[in-house]
Amino acid sequence: MAGVPLVSLQTREETTLFYEAVTLARKKLYLSYPTFDDKANPLYPSPYIQSVRQVLDPIPQEILSLNYVPAPNESASLSELAVSLTSPNARDTASAVALNQALQQTSPTWRHSLFARQVEARRESLMPHDEFSGVMQDAKLRAEFAAKFGADHRWSASQFNEWGACGFRFFAKRLLNLEEITEPEEGLDNLQLGSLYHEILEQAYGEFAKRSIAVTAAALADAQRIMAETAECILKDAPTRFAFRPTAWWSEERGEILRRLNALLAAEAERNGDNAPVPFALEMPFGFKGKPALNVQLPVGTIRVIGKIDRIDRVVDGTVVLIDYKTGSTPIGPAEVIQGRNLQLPIYVLAAEGQGHRVTAAFFVHIRGGKTSGNLAKVDRAGWLGSAKEHINRYVGFARAGNFSVEPNQFENGTCNAYCEFASLCRVGRWSLKNKTQASAQKATAD
Ligand code: SF4
Repeated sequence: MAGVPLVSLQTREETTLFYEAVTLARKKLYLSYPTFDDKANPLYPSPYIQSVRQVLDPIPQEILSLNYVPAPNESASLSELAVSLTSPNARDTASAVALNQALQQTSPTWRHSLFARQVEARRESLMPHDEFSGVMQDAKLRAEFAAKFGADHRWSASQFNEWGACGFRFFAKRLLNLEEITEPEEGLDNLQLGSLYHEILEQAYGEFAKRSIAVTAAALADAQRIMAETAECILKDAPTRFAFRPTAWWSEERGEILRRLNALLAAEAERNGDNAPVPFALEMPFGFKGKPALNVQLPVGTIRVIGKIDRIDRVVDGTVVLIDYKTGSTPIGPAEVIQGRNLQLPIYVLAAEGQGHRVTAAFFVHIRGGKTSGNLAKVDRAGWLGSAKEHINRYVGFARAGNFSVEPNQFENGTCNAYCEFASLCRVGRWSLKNKTQASAQKATAD
């Protein structure tokens, strides 16, 4: 069989389907493909289009820009026809005007579509924010928000961090309950990986707490042995418990998880020196499991906050150290608190103090790389806590007033720099996407 090209059955079926589809055309045949994906990354034509080009070259080719509006007689579907008739860039041909007028007179759905188009155009414009870009105008609705976010609302650090990106992000996530639709992947996704690490760390450090093991150079081998046993026990049925399908390299991934955990312990032993605190509480709740919520007194009134602290270690002098694990390696410096983007540690410090602990340090530990960031011990404590409370007061005040406008906290060169799954919904995200697409298109043309 040497020299005979082997083509899979699936490829042959696809080729046949493509052949049948193109030979159905009777007058004209259009072959099209998107040049950018929804994140403005360039896309390339399929091998079928390349093959047609090779056979029929030269064939007319047209590249349509993102804002291209087809003429009514070019529209290939009802939705394209609707765009053609309603877009601000619509071609005002006599037939388009006549069709539009006829539809307006006869179709309530069409009148609604025109109104929706106006709303959308306003949302994407530079006009001041209104009820369609996050600022509620209706008095009844505002009263409902004032009640919903009143004294009984259970706030959390994640809610404040969403506000820390912008009010519209909070609105999309918490009030519209929108979620990003992601393609299912094989293997662990980031969320599952984070939960897996958290569970292993909670159980291993729980064992350290029981045996009063502080992570020092002298105790490192012992700590790593307990960590390896705990990880082995959790990893063996992780695919079932964390609901993922293991990939062919799952055994490699398990080894990598263990290597990271060992490196984390080694980094901690080095950081601690001989005077190491001893872990004593893991996943400490406040506001549930019978523990009181954190009450924060603010100019807007007292609010209730709930949450869970990953780990608390006790120092020999009786003070405590608060630790929060992060799967990612990006440091979260004190500026994130001062600028209101990440209020997790100040909330944990207030919650631990509310339960009678004296906190001398609080920091993030990054599981990838073992580094720490955002340490309370290195900041002006009063200013740090004061900034956090000011931001919280502002976010609560806005929520009660029904103001969820798109005001990004990290705004540079017309772009919001926050990672945000709602970028395709908000005006700033759409401007950025448009700019990025235009820049990519110019680059592709230049290439
Ligand atoms: S992308 Fe838009 S919704 Fe998301 S944080 Fe930035 S401005 Fe807000």
